[in-house]
Amino acid sequence: MDPAANTTPAENAPRVTKSDDEWRAELGPEAYAVLRTSATERPFTGEYTDTTAEGVYECRGCGAELFRSATKFESHCGWPSFYDPADSDAVILRRDTSLGMVRVEVLCASCHGHLGHVFEGEGYATPTDQRYCINSVALRLVPAE
Ligand SMILES: [Zn+2]
Repeated sequence: MDPAANTTPAENAPRVTKSDDEWRAELGPEAYAVLRTSATERPFTGEYTDTTAEGVYECRGCGAELFRSATKFESHCGWPSFYDPADSDAVILRRDTSLGMVRVEVLCASCHGHLGHVFEGEGYATPTDQRYCINSVALRLVPAE
């Protein structure tokens, strides 16, 4: 994937907007740090790293449907990993050159919350060969009925 080719222009305004104080109050410190300041939770500590329950993963910031359990796979990388978003419009991909690396950042398309990064070509036996490496604290699993 050429990150630039698959990147939605950042000028696309978020549909869900809140003040910094509102985000802080609603999310709590850990989710705020990840979603609003692009922090990364420590590996193997997240609530959903090894979760195999069926359901839909929503954005913890705004409730948008982001991923489905059917595309979650065991990557052993320490974070929940998905090979495809629930809907290609659910996330925004953005080139990220922080920390001296070139990565592709994954954002919620609705609130522009930081979710994690997407990597590809790592050889995982998945249909897309992509790994959406997502912070647990940015998600909320809604179990299937
Ligand atoms: Zn969101």
